[in-house]
Amino acid sequence: MLDMEKLVSLCKRRGFIFQSSEIYGGINSCWDYGPLGVELKNNIKRQWWSAMAHREGISGLDASILMHPKVWEASGHVAGFSDPLVDCKKCKHRFRADQLSKKHCPDCGGELTELRQFNLMFKTFMGPVEDETSVVYLRPETAQGSYVNFLNVQSTLRQKLPFGIAQIGKAFRNEITPGNFIFRTREFEQMEMQYFVKPEEDEKWFEHWKEQRLKWHLGIGLNPKKLRFHEHGKQELAHYAKQAVDIQYEFPFGWNEMEGIHNRTDFDLTRHEKYSGKSLHYFDDETKQKYIPYIIETAVGCDRTLLACLSDAYCEEEERSVLKFSPCLAPVKVAFFPLIKKPELCELAHKLQDSVGFHYLTKYDEGGSIGRRYRRQDEIGTPLCVTVDFDSLTDQSVTVRDRDTMKQERIGVAQLVSVLNTKLGLS
Ligand code: ATP
Repeated sequence: MLDMEKLVSLCKRRGFIFQSSEIYGGINSCWDYGPLGVELKNNIKRQWWSAMAHREGISGLDASILMHPKVWEASGHVAGFSDPLVDCKKCKHRFRADQLSKKHCPDCGGELTELRQFNLMFKTFMGPVEDETSVVYLRPETAQGSYVNFLNVQSTLRQKLPFGIAQIGKAFRNEITPGNFIFRTREFEQMEMQYFVKPEEDEKWFEHWKEQRLKWHLGIGLNPKKLRFHEHGKQELAHYAKQAVDIQYEFPFGWNEMEGIHNRTDFDLTRHEKYSGKSLHYFDDETKQKYIPYIIETAVGCDRTLLACLSDAYCEEEERSVLKFSPCLAPVKVAFFPLIKKPELCELAHKLQDSVGFHYLTKYDEGGSIGRRYRRQDEIGTPLCVTVDFDSLTDQSVTVRDRDTMKQERIGVAQLVSVLNTKLGLS
């Protein structure tokens, strides 16, 4: 099993993920994505967006993080989005009561306080006056933005059921026990799709999206042996759900949820209709009936997916450590090297790098032995390296080296771009 400390240290050393506000000693459970981390994250988001928002019948949305406070009353978050909290009277450590098996502190054996419910929403104030009338919340999920825009999207695009709304955006939860690096944080990013369906077709679409979402995780290269479904039993179901399944991944610290697929029935739209006083019924042209659609939701955490991709890709081999990312996720796709630091070799390496253009991220490196440069790229998961040597100046060909097989191939400069694209799966 991969050691989390090794992964965290690699992430810091190579510029994937830094602790937030590090020069001030950091802030608990907040992380910053560095130069490579932001590329990886954007690649994950791009894969999700094209697979979900670009499908026929699904459209994108970018709703605001701050919403009318009544949204959170209607959704049930004000009344019910809470975890049971207990404190240790002796060492003062804090725990989620539902995660404890004993009645005493797991850290020091001390006595625990009475259980109290702790609402996970972050509260703040809108405008200059800090009183109860100006309270707003940082959204704990992106879903509600899609529900309150259901009619806007449906009527502007003249959508017929079934249709979907896809969103990627930040969400905030004041988690009692954040941890495991970026697995559980208080600020995180979600990629959610809400699919509005005829009520009698809910089970069919639930199965459809369950399969589609598993396919997506396999498509970005995750190991099938580390993915599984977990069906929610009656006890586990959220207040809004008729049926729910998680896609779990076997993280270095065990099997855990990465994505949830939920049949939310007509709960959300019915509640928003009641709380807003606006009709959210859908008029069915075929049957001439008006009804509230059911919603099948697919909700995946971007940060958790990124952690799964990192742990899945990490490999230690005899003389190197490698991140074997699928090419679609690799932050840097190709690195260009002159064999040694001679002006004519450097110039050709730069020229070849320029010929790729800005379609994907490339890097130029002339520092250290060629072997060390390969290792550096292996460690950040670059699938291909191109080396220019003295022969290149006369035979107009270069060496292309594959990260996983470490095999080297001589390729003519004229074909280089198309060969790289083919190897990267871009053409
Ligand atoms: P959990 O049971 O782990 O708290 P959840 O069931 O409350 O998660 P959902 O509300 O279904 O999660 O949110 C959808 C997805 O958002 C989750 O599958 C997860 O990937 C991500 N997510 C939720 N909470 C967090 C968090 N605190 N940090 C990072 N990602 C999160």
